[in-house]
Parts: sequence; structure tokens; C-alpha cells
Amino acid sequence: MLRRLLPLLLLLLLPSAGALPTEQTVLCEAASGLMSDGVRMNERVAWQVNLGPRIPDSPASHALLSSIVENNTTWDIHFDVHPYKNGNMTNLVALYTPSGRTRTDHVVAIAAHYDTRDRAEREVDEANQSLPIPGANDGASGVAVALEMMRLVPQMDLPHPVMIVLFDAEDQGPMPGLEGSRRWADNLTEEEINDIDALILLDMVGDADLNLARISSNSDSVAAPIPALAEAVGLVSGARACDGSVGLDVYQHETVANIIDDHINTQAVGIPSAVIIDHRYGEGASRLADGHWHTLQDTPDKVSAESLSNVARLVELGLRTGAWQVPDPVVDDTPSTEEPERTEDEAIRAPLLMLAVVWASLVLLSVAVVACLLVLRRLRGPPRQRTTWTWDS
Ligand SMILES: [Zn+2]
Repeated sequence: MLRRLLPLLLLLLLPSAGALPTEQTVLCEAASGLMSDGVRMNERVAWQVNLGPRIPDSPASHALLSSIVENNTTWDIHFDVHPYKNGNMTNLVALYTPSGRTRTDHVVAIAAHYDTRDRAEREVDEANQSLPIPGANDGASGVAVALEMMRLVPQMDLPHPVMIVLFDAEDQGPMPGLEGSRRWADNLTEEEINDIDALILLDMVGDADLNLARISSNSDSVAAPIPALAEAVGLVSGARACDGSVGLDVYQHETVANIIDDHINTQAVGIPSAVIIDHRYGEGASRLADGHWHTLQDTPDKVSAESLSNVARLVELGLRTGAWQVPDPVVDDTPSTEEPERTEDEAIRAPLLMLAVVWASLVLLSVAVVACLLVLRRLRGPPRQRTTWTWDS
């Protein structure tokens, strides 16, 4: 009896587990709607390099910032300016709050540094070491992906705000620079810090020979969904992507790299942060310290539309599925002056919840019935030999 009932019980129990953002079915449903455009991002890399080196307070930096403001009018953009050397450094902070949503917490921040290194200290020829680098990968690539998210987020209808932070002065002077992110993070209020669920930093993400390792300095909560996201968009060698293709060897979970970047400064003030970075720039490079990193060879021809697209799709998928967010166990009980709007999602969720409760009760009931039957069988003991009584015996 039990043996016959067991598969049925299992079938009843299986779908009752709640779907997580990183579950394959959830990821693959969202993956079919990804819109990141590699060609567009590649053009944005070339455009930034054509502006000239983006040294803090330079005409190239100002041109870049003005263009971002002009082209993203649906975003609330402000400049975070600090004195630096003989002039200023400027971080750009942009916030998009989906219309109809009043919550200001659960912000997901996408960050990148937009300045480019003032010196090519890894050039072999000493005469070239004091020249500024073009910064196609180291600077422009992260900005290109961040700008692509700025373009797409208003079309995503997310239930939470998204912040874009473009840091200045990450790559100036003796290493590690990281000055822009330090000034921004140190000036945030406790409330502003608590409102940000996760910060995803993008740096050197355009290398045509893209290699993404597991970064040991990343916050666990932000880095946790990366392997599943990478697999879904086809960046894990041999694994099946959502579109059925076999994954490329881009995200290597077994390779661990320790990276000091702007995410260290945001982490230090309490924002869970992770960097996505190519830790070996250039074909055949074995680590960050070889290849084109901090040389005059950091030019647009070393960056590809495909690599930019691969990273952007991973980030976009995380946004669309809520994978970057940390679930909030605390119920928000702040009194609201407005009648809370019942969203379409909630309208569907209520009857679904009822169904789930009824279903769970049925499952429990069947388990109880089977248990009772088993106990009764035990109590009755082994079946007695059937005997027929006659007057003769
Ligand atoms: Zn750099």
C-alpha cells in the first residue's frame, strides 16, 4: 500500500518548494528577454577613448559626464564633487525609481570607474611610462556596461530603485588609488548605506579574451548568484546555457583571484559589494600584471562587443530576476499617508497563496492517513491462519 502511495506523495510534495531567483527555470524565463547590445557598448568604448584620457577634471572627463546627463533624462543624476590635487574629482550618481513605487530601499547599485590611469607604468620603454593610458578596457568597458544598464533599467519595470555610480580617481598616482569611491562611501549617511542591498562593480570587462575568476574579496551575499547567472547566459565551460548552447570558458569558478578595487571602499562602510573583473587582460596573459594592463596597448581593438555583451547579460539577468538583492526579513511597518496600491502581482499572489495552503493541507492529510493505516496494521499483528469452525472440532 505504502509503496504504491509513495510516488504519489512525492509528486504532491515536489512543486511546493518556493522558486528562488537563481533557480534555472526562473533564470531561463528571464534570459529569453535580455536586451543588452554588445555592438552599442563597443561603440561607447571607442567613443570614450576618442575623448582622450579621462584624467580627473580634464575636458575629456567633463565631456563624458555632460553626455551622460544629456542622454539619460529619466534618471535623477547628481555630481559628488571633492577637491583633488589642483582641481576637483567628480563622482556621478544616478538614481532610477520605477514609477508608482515609493520605496527607497532595496537599491541595487551598478558601479564602474570612468577615469583612466595617468601613467602607463607597465610599459617596457621607460620613456612611455609617464604617458596616460587610453583606457579602453580599464575604464571605458565598465562605463559602457553601466550605461547600457542605464538605457535598459527604465524598460525593466523592476520593483526597486537602481543606482548607477561612476567613480572618478580610481586609477591615479601610486597604487591603489581608489580615491573617488573612498570619498563617496565615506560621505554616505547610515540610512543611504542601509538602503543599498548590493553594489556590483564592473572593471575591465571588455577584454576580447575574457576570463572571470571567483574574486575572494567579494561580499558573499552579492557574489553568491554569479555562478548560476554565468551558467544561464552561457559563460561556464561545458555547461548548458538557457538557449541550449554549450557554455564558453569565461567564468572559472575554480580560479580564485584577490582583487583590490573600489568595492573594498564601499564594503568598508557596510554596503555588500562585489567586483566583476577580468584578472588577466590580453590573450595569453596569466595574471593581471601581464598583458595590456596599465600599458598604452589598452586600446579599443583589444575589447570586443561579445565580451561586453556577455558581462552585460549576466548583470541584466541578475537585475531582472532579483538575484542581486538580499531578501529583507523585517516587515516594513512605517505608516503610509497614501492608500497602498494593490499591484497586479499582488492580485495574482493572494489566490495563489490560498491554493498553496489548501494544497499543503491536502498533502499533510494524506500523510496522516497513510501513517494511521500503517499503525493500525502494526497493532493488528501478523494475519492469523484462517480456520473454519464446525461443530465437529
Ligand atoms: Zn587600472
